[in-house]
Amino acid sequence: MSARILVVDDLLPNVKLLEAKLTSEYFDVLTANDGPSALEIIEAQPPDIVLLDVMMPGMDGFEVCQRIKQQPETMHIPVVMITALSDAADRVRGIECGADDFLTKPVNDTALFARVRSLVRLKMMMDEWRMREQTTGQLGVLRDETSLLDVDASQAAVLVLDDNEVDAKKVVETLRQDDDIVIATDTVESMLDYAMKREFDLIIINLNLREQDSLRLCSRLRSAERTRQIPILLVVEEDQVDRLAKGFDLGINDYLIKPIDRNELLARARTQIRRWRYHGRLRETYERSIEMALTDGLTGLYNRRYLNAHVEGQIERMKVSGKGMSLMMFDIDHFKEINDAHGHAAGDEVLQELASRVTHNLRSFDTVARYGGEEFVIVMPDTEISIACAVAERLRVDIAGRTFAISGPGEAVNVTVSIGVASASLTGETTADILRRADEALFAAKRGGRNRAMLWTETGFEDVTRGELDAPAAGVA
Ligand code: GH3
Ligand code: MG
Ligand code: MG
Repeated sequence: MSARILVVDDLLPNVKLLEAKLTSEYFDVLTANDGPSALEIIEAQPPDIVLLDVMMPGMDGFEVCQRIKQQPETMHIPVVMITALSDAADRVRGIECGADDFLTKPVNDTALFARVRSLVRLKMMMDEWRMREQTTGQLGVLRDETSLLDVDASQAAVLVLDDNEVDAKKVVETLRQDDDIVIATDTVESMLDYAMKREFDLIIINLNLREQDSLRLCSRLRSAERTRQIPILLVVEEDQVDRLAKGFDLGINDYLIKPIDRNELLARARTQIRRWRYHGRLRETYERSIEMALTDGLTGLYNRRYLNAHVEGQIERMKVSGKGMSLMMFDIDHFKEINDAHGHAAGDEVLQELASRVTHNLRSFDTVARYGGEEFVIVMPDTEISIACAVAERLRVDIAGRTFAISGPGEAVNVTVSIGVASASLTGETTADILRRADEALFAAKRGGRNRAMLWTETGFEDVTRGELDAPAAGVA
């Protein structure tokens, strides 16, 4: 993991020491000796993490941190404050300025690397989401403009595991007074039970359970799909850095040192909850916008934009796998008559029912798209042309053989489709080439009388319709 780290400290020996440690672990290190030059570097060469001394003449660490966190371009960069004192008031002030983490001087190596790695991981994940969000922005759909600091972190659901009654009570009371919904458990089993059943925004675990292994629990929470990403806060004793480092390796997010300071607990809990909810928002927006950008609202099928990209991808895959791909394009026969006779709403119902029949008729790795008004495309990867023709014929019969129900008492219509089949060879064709062939074959099927399937070949079109050519023509039933 070659992350770039900016070390900021007014004392040269401190800078050199951290630089040497981090460089020996293969991080890229940048350095600055005061606040203003740190901000300049951050703007010119944004780092993945900032390690920031608190006590500096002129602009102190709190101010530098605040400036980083106020700028939309830099607010996502994690800041670790390095304090000379393990004073809780200092930490709280740091958290209020937006600091992501703290280390006390002299900096312990295990703690340093554990925190740096954990924050780098988090940063990379956030970067990825930010990138996806940019892509979504380019597609011209939904973009969530909310920043991390605007996300509401109140009234969270928190799950606590501590078998020490005094500590547990302190955590639970503090969070409840702050309006969180807290569930307290005292065994690993009961915690897991809750974690698998309900939704939580934060999990707090005491690292020193009397009889059970809390690190094993963290590992289980991280491997279960449902709890993989929920923030975990560990409550630890001062002398437990090694086990804590193991916890970070397992993916815990933060820790509190005993005796627990109520303000620090609240500040750290809010930071984690805010991030978790922000992450959730990004994911939702992303999924929703992808859906809007790539699928068709009426039928739920993929749209033309997706299809083009998909065929392109399949052509690339073919070059590697050496296996063929087939494609069919079909169009409803005399669809205009259905609209004219029963109304546009009935036409819509036919399109929906058609989409559902087609989807049920295919393998899960075939892709169906609504290519135009009443025109559809099916992409079949790794499929020989003879199989594709059989699928086309099966589909044609499935559509022509049963009437389509539409609203209104006892109403049903006959529907038929004309199908063009084409396959891609390995001779450097483009998406447009393949779609054009399918379209030509479809046109030939229309010319040939409709309700039939035609295959495109080098030498002309081949009618691959096998039976039931005399299915009723589309239109009024
Ligand atoms: P052909 O057999 O040659 O394909 O005849 P056709 O009537 O199906 O073809 P044409 O292209 O003349 O008409 C297509 C009709 O499909 C016209 C258009 O109003 C209708 N259509 C397109 N999109 C929708 C839609 O979303 N809902 C409904 N109800 N009708 C649609
Ligand atoms: Mg049509
Ligand atoms: Mg048409």
